[in-house]
Amino acid sequence: MNNIAQDTRFTALMAALQDRRDDLITLTQELIRIPTLNPPGDNYLEICEFLERRLKASGFEAQMIRAYGTPGDTDAYPRWNVVARREGTRPGDCVHFTSHIDVVEVGAGWTFDPFGGELVDGKIYGRGACDMKGGLAASIIAAEAFLATYPEFSGAIEISGTADEESGGYGGVAYLAEKGFFSPQKVQHVIIPEPLQKDRVCLGHRGGWWAEIETFGEIAHGSMPFLGDCAVRHMGAVLNTFERHLFPAMAARRTDMPVVPEGARSSTMNINSVHGGQIEQLKGSTALPSPCVPDSCRIVIDRRYLVEEDIDNVRGEIIGLLDDLKEERPKFDYAVKELNHIIPSMTDKEAPIVRTVAQAISDVMGKEAEYVASPGSYDQKHIDRIGKLKNCIAYGPGLLELAHKPDEYVGVDDMMDSAAVMARSLAALLLPQD
Ligand SMILES: [Zn+2]
Repeated sequence: MNNIAQDTRFTALMAALQDRRDDLITLTQELIRIPTLNPPGDNYLEICEFLERRLKASGFEAQMIRAYGTPGDTDAYPRWNVVARREGTRPGDCVHFTSHIDVVEVGAGWTFDPFGGELVDGKIYGRGACDMKGGLAASIIAAEAFLATYPEFSGAIEISGTADEESGGYGGVAYLAEKGFFSPQKVQHVIIPEPLQKDRVCLGHRGGWWAEIETFGEIAHGSMPFLGDCAVRHMGAVLNTFERHLFPAMAARRTDMPVVPEGARSSTMNINSVHGGQIEQLKGSTALPSPCVPDSCRIVIDRRYLVEEDIDNVRGEIIGLLDDLKEERPKFDYAVKELNHIIPSMTDKEAPIVRTVAQAISDVMGKEAEYVASPGSYDQKHIDRIGKLKNCIAYGPGLLELAHKPDEYVGVDDMMDSAAVMARSLAALLLPQD
């Protein structure tokens, strides 16, 4: 199957993994069949209880943690998390695998049942198959194979299933980090099995700043717009100044982070939405709009920034352009409301978890690991900023391009190879080296 099978030191570990291939398939299917759509946050309790049962049966102690009061947490949609820990027989480092349990909406275009977990030609299909129930299942199987082979090990293994990553992770990893679950005293190595591909180590992600910008005007009759002040025209000026000054400046900035795809190695900004004037006609309505000069126009921007940039400059650049317009345009006024801020996170290439997993990839796959960074963010930001834990990567099976798409799948061989890398990494970190 791969080089590690010939590595005699790990023959037993790899055999234990091979024995669990059917178990890995079944586990992945069972996880997919619990529809954990977010929004609204369906079945978090069910999937956490499922994981709790599974991991307790493997000798873990498990805690169920509800993130009371976090965004979206209600009695109808409680934000449940599960954290399981298995102590070793000697003191040592703790390796933590953390996976989000939520999946995004199904969307159109599926030819498979999105919650069927069907296995066809070595691929398991379903919403969340690659992002990231396949990675969660691989980490569980890797830990179980390791524990069966080496009941005596140093340190501890932790596995968590967490809520709400797809909506920012505030009821999941952020909450757990605030409660101390990711403090460097407790946990020394973190692997997030997001679908970054079985031969790549993901070191981190870019930062993000989301804001709503509003321009103001004055309502008047549409036949006499000169009696009012058109907020949409003011927004046109904002978009124009962004086109002329901001977009070229962002495109010229390049990062040393190995972000994939290549286009995301610059600063970028998306304009998520624009709303101005009257609300849109209801679908099916034949009524005509009434003639009014809009007195408000709003856009939502999603600015992604590089680890080399500073958030104050990211904000300041945009505010500066808006202030310039104030000088140029009579009656121009604006407001900026910050919606979200995500810090960029980048783990050092020489960090222990990076070196360990990269070595395991080259042992298992017979080729050098590739180092990447993610254009969008994932839970590493919370582990870094709140947990103050820097020894963290994303590593897991599946192709990022399939995430959130119709007919999402994860390959069984890819999960097996990733599980081999994870199990080998546990051996490197938790067994005495000879
Ligand atoms: Zn994900």
